[in-house]
Formats: sequence, C-alpha cells, structure tokens
Amino acid sequence: MYIVMIASECAPVAKVGGLGDVVYGLSKELEIRGNAVEIILPKYDCMRHDQVYGLHITYPDLWVPWYGGAIRCHIWFGFVQGRKCFFIEPQSNDNFFNRGAFYGFPDEAMRFAFFSKAALEFLLKSNKRPDILHCHDWQAGLVPVLLFEMYHKLGMDRQRVCYTIHNFRHQGITGDNVLWATGLQRPEYFKQPERLKDDFNHTALNFMKGGIVYSNFVTTVSPQHAWEVRFTDQGYGLGHTLYTHRTKFGGVLNGLDYEVWNPEIDPLIPHHYSAHSLDPKYGNKEILRERFLLRKDYKPVIAYVGRLDSQKGVHLIRHGIFHAIQNGAQFILLGAGSEKGINDHFWQIKHQLNDNPDCHLEISYNEELAHLIYAGADLIIVPSVYEPCGLTQVIALRYGTVPIVRAVGGLVNTVFDRDHDSKPLQERNGYVFHEDSHSAFESALQRAIGLWYSDPKAFRELVINGMQYDFSWNYPGQDYLNIYEFICCK
Ligand code: ADP
Repeated sequence: MYIVMIASECAPVAKVGGLGDVVYGLSKELEIRGNAVEIILPKYDCMRHDQVYGLHITYPDLWVPWYGGAIRCHIWFGFVQGRKCFFIEPQSNDNFFNRGAFYGFPDEAMRFAFFSKAALEFLLKSNKRPDILHCHDWQAGLVPVLLFEMYHKLGMDRQRVCYTIHNFRHQGITGDNVLWATGLQRPEYFKQPERLKDDFNHTALNFMKGGIVYSNFVTTVSPQHAWEVRFTDQGYGLGHTLYTHRTKFGGVLNGLDYEVWNPEIDPLIPHHYSAHSLDPKYGNKEILRERFLLRKDYKPVIAYVGRLDSQKGVHLIRHGIFHAIQNGAQFILLGAGSEKGINDHFWQIKHQLNDNPDCHLEISYNEELAHLIYAGADLIIVPSVYEPCGLTQVIALRYGTVPIVRAVGGLVNTVFDRDHDSKPLQERNGYVFHEDSHSAFESALQRAIGLWYSDPKAFRELVINGMQYDFSWNYPGQDYLNIYEFICCK
C-alpha cells in the first residue's frame, strides 16, 4: 500500500509529545512490512534540522490557493532516520511556521488549515495518489473535509482517510475565516451540527469534529480510551459525534520503539540484561543509588518518570513519595512541569526531603537519566487522572520494572493486577488501583512493597511476566494495516 501521513509532528525532527513518536514509529513499522510511506510536515524554523538527512527543495513552486489569491510554497524533502519526509514552507508574510516554537499562537487554526490545504495541493499537483491518507489530531482534521468536499472533484477520488486522535482536549475551535481562506466557503453548509459546527460554541467550527465526520475510519490511542471518550466526559464534548460515527471508530494501542527501548543493548545503561538474564538489572540499581546518594539498604526503589501535570495525578505522586519512604521503600522522581505552581510545589518537597537518604527528586527533563531509572528501579508509579495511552508503564515493563497504575486509558490495556486480574497468574504484570484516592493508591503500594519483601521469588516472576509482553509496533502495525485494507475495499 501507499500511505501518506499528514501530521504536525514526527520524532525526532519535530516532537512535542507522543504524537511525534507515533507518526515516526508507525511509519517505520509500515515500511518494514513492505508499504510505501511518506510523511508531510510543516517546515518549522525550530525543528531539529540536524535530524534530517539530505534536506533539499524538491518542489520550488507550489502555489496554494488561499483566500482570493495563492501563497507560494517551497516543498522540501529529506530523510528522518530513514523515513521519507516532505516539509511545507510557505513564502508569505504570515510566517506560519517561522515563530521559534511549534505551537501556542493566536492564529493556530489558520496555520494548520493552511498546512492541511497545502498538503493536499502538493499531492494533487505532484500527481501523488496514495491509497491512504493517515491524518493526526486536530491540526490535520481539515484534510478529510477538504479532500471529500474539494479535491475529490479535482481527481483525488480514490483516496481513503484514517484519522487518529491522540488528545481530545485540543480540538481546533475557530470561526468562519478558515472557510473563506481554504475555499470551502458555504458557512451555512459546514456549520450544520452533522458537519463542523462545534457542539458547545454554536457559532464556531471544530476541526476535530470535521475529521471524525469526514474520515473513513477514526481511531484513538488505546481501546480503553476509545470507550472513555464515548461514555465519559473525557471526549470533551465529542461523545455525541463519536456515537453517531461509532461504526467507524475504535482504539488501537500505541506501540513502543523496541530498538530505542531495549535493556539488552541500550547504550544509556551500564548493565545490560533480559528476561533470561535478569541479575545485571540490579547492577543498574546500585549505580542509580550511587548517582543520587541513596543509602545502600535492602529496600525496593520506587520511581516516577513523567511530566508533572495535573493530568498525571500530582496529588497522588506527592502522596506516593511520602508513603513509600515511610513504608520501607526508596523513591526517585524525574519530572518537569509546565505549570509554575506544580513545579514550585515539587521544589518545596525536594527541599523538605533534601537530607533523606531514601529519596531523590530530579526536577528536569533528562532522557539519559530516564533510561537509567527505568533500568534500575524495582517499581514505577503511574497514578494518572487521564491517560489516552501512556508510554511510561510500557517502557517500565520492557525494563523489568513493575508498574503500579491507576485504571484509566491505555494503562487498563497494558497493566494487569497481580492479585485481582482474571488473566492467568503468568500474564499478570503489575498493580492496578481504581479510585482517585490516597487510600486506593496506598493499598496498591502496600501490596507491591509487601510482595517485594515477603516473596522475592514471586516478585521476580512478576518482573519476568512484564518483560515477556510484546508492546512493540508489531501488533498495532498490523491493526492499522487491517483498518487501511478495510476502508480501501469498502
Ligand atoms: P505524555 O505523552 O502524556 O507525556 P507518556 O507516558 O505517553 O506521557 O510519555 C512520556 C514519555 O516522556 C516517556 O517516554 C517518558 O520516559 C518521557 N519523559 C517524561 N518526562 C520526562 C523527564 N522529565 N525526563 C525524561 N523523560 C521524560
């Protein structure tokens, strides 16, 4: 199959979050399986140019209709770790992608409306006719709308669209201007409730809703989250639209890049190990302790690695730190937050526990340290309030670090409670609690610490169970191919 990804991020050249990892990881897997994959991205001034090999202008004169006139674009081409990427660079005073940052501007909807229009115009003019357009998040939500309302008539009538939503909290809410800019026009037609009209703000258009309505298939990043966005408030107002389109909606769990995250060869950890040779893992634990001046004692190390954000359950993370060190464990935190209040709060805790030999808080973003922590810790906590998929727990499983998670989103699809799950014992891999409360979290922590002390052999079996799961792109890659085939032959 010939697949074109249209997205605002692709790791490592333009990455803000998990979206970038998925676009890269899925494209790689699809290529390994013999498909032709190309990725279309904006050409941001702040992207990692050093991560693109052979970047050059391949199409210097793409005129993209915009309002009454047209904007000239350069289309660049280069390889991002082997992936074929096209970058759209508009030559206009709007400076859509020359702002020193990927996101966060008042004309955000216009920027990505232009990107969507330019991506289709590029495919049309360069005679590229992929079988599948795979669009991601609100930034590419207008692509299927434009494809089926405009570009169909211009000769792109065989393309099918798969639309993946990574985050329902940002939907691209905007006014009529985009309709005039992109040439869609007809506000009375597009602002119908069954098309792009936002369900809360009745004078506004909603890009993500457009993406759902017009695409041939819609996915989100885990089966559990697919349920949550339909039946709880986690759909942020799109539950009704998803109900209407329920026959073409489902969840596909994100994969993990098993080449980057592999304790057998990971260059960022000193001792390599596997499920068949686990002992070197404990060499990493000692190095972790030395690095943070934790005392060498017969205690489990519990860790948190992730953003410090209300989504991640900061009140529980805080509680977990104190509960762990008062109940015979050591605690290491690696995290940084974008909200000043939350960051300050963790700096305070750090100062308070400064002299505690069983605790270290590292308030920063540090990729290398993250690898060492995954490799050296015994347990990891992920007490999220909201978690569409979650990578932390999957990485932890791969590194033989037992996850303690709240039952939400992708955590439900990846972690199975040792004491309560209905799966056979050898398929259980961690601890799960349900309520967003101190007592529920404590009881899971207690069970985990308790097993570590009381039955080391059983704890080791739990570690090995987790390491034997396959959360690589292998299965999700096949799931997406099945979806593509399904929508192509409909
Ligand atoms: P989200 O996308 O909501 O931030 P995920 O669990 O899907 O959460 O992905 C988080 C990823 O970012 C993981 O790979 C994790 O190791 C990494 N990460 C988060 N915070 C840090 C940090 N402070 N230092 C290093 N890596 C981090």
